[in-house]
Amino acid sequence: MNSIDLSTVPLADNHCHGIYRRQTPADVTAWQGLFTESSDFGMRSKHVTTTLFYRRLVREMATFFDCEPTEQAILTARQQLGEIDLIRNFLRAANFDILFIDKGYPPQDLLLSDATVSDLANCRVAPILRVELLMQRLITENTNLSAVVEALRAVLNEVRGQGYVALKSIVAYRTGLDIRSWTINEVEESFALARREVQEKGSIRLAQKPLLDTLLHVTFEEAARQELPIQFHTGYGDTDADMLLANPLNLRAVLERREYRAMPVVLLHESYPYTQQGAYLATVYENVFFDLSYGIPFLGYHEMLQFSRAAFSVAPYSKLLYSSDAVGVPEIHWVSALFGRRILGQVLGECVANGELSPTQAEQAGAAVLHDNAIQLYKC
Ligand SMILES: [Zn+2]
Repeated sequence: MNSIDLSTVPLADNHCHGIYRRQTPADVTAWQGLFTESSDFGMRSKHVTTTLFYRRLVREMATFFDCEPTEQAILTARQQLGEIDLIRNFLRAANFDILFIDKGYPPQDLLLSDATVSDLANCRVAPILRVELLMQRLITENTNLSAVVEALRAVLNEVRGQGYVALKSIVAYRTGLDIRSWTINEVEESFALARREVQEKGSIRLAQKPLLDTLLHVTFEEAARQELPIQFHTGYGDTDADMLLANPLNLRAVLERREYRAMPVVLLHESYPYTQQGAYLATVYENVFFDLSYGIPFLGYHEMLQFSRAAFSVAPYSKLLYSSDAVGVPEIHWVSALFGRRILGQVLGECVANGELSPTQAEQAGAAVLHDNAIQLYKC
């Protein structure tokens, strides 16, 4: 079986995060902590280094730096290179056309500006607006519910005009993807609780379900009107997410609403481990797209191969989008690019061997998933 060579296809990374200004971790545990979604200290200090993801990363970085394949050797090599060269070398090696950056995390003061990332990576950067952060700010600033709704509509009135190419929601982490409609009394009660939190803490972590669901419906109306894509975190994430409520099948009520059909919906992180369910949604709803992320979740090769096979076997490849979901250090953007191309090449080679695609079609499918589909979807 011959793999399809996708090594020269420039990438559109349709979901990733910014790059830290400071690339030197405080200690080795802080470095290891970049490669787990667990907040348990022992996961970072003891177990991360025995994941296949981490072992693979160390070996690939050692090849990149031409050093010993040990944790100590790669950390020394990245230290010696200096922060700017480190970022530039990894990002350029990945060969991006465009990075779609979720501006909601990490906090912006820790990150390089988009202009600097664009310059270092030699690619375009397109920002994505995280709606829950916007909602939190508006709840902090306004003392009544109708003022919040009005302010939200005003800010979301013309999203592309503000430079954003899409929205992103983390409702899966907060109250779950089963976004419902609530009575006005329930929403007002929920808003009162939120305001109490603002008064007690000066800020809010929006997790009042009737309120968040209601503000999301406002968001969907605005997004549909502008035919603006919205990305949803689905599946695998940190321990904030109740995995049962992060199953994309919970989105059914939203997907069934005719009035939202003009809003493209992107299910992030291959909905792992609900990959088949997510890919299924992309086959039955015209406006649902499916993200294949090769940086985070932190998976071994075999599992990345499996989810890629499942996605291609279930969904039309015009619905599949490459991403890294990389955060903070350029190594994740880079290693994702390396393995994303390799694994997609392998899966498409299998499709040719199985008589499903011609070699030319397989190459076109690879370019579509790695690049063209995202350019079309986000109109970039
Ligand atoms: Zn992300």
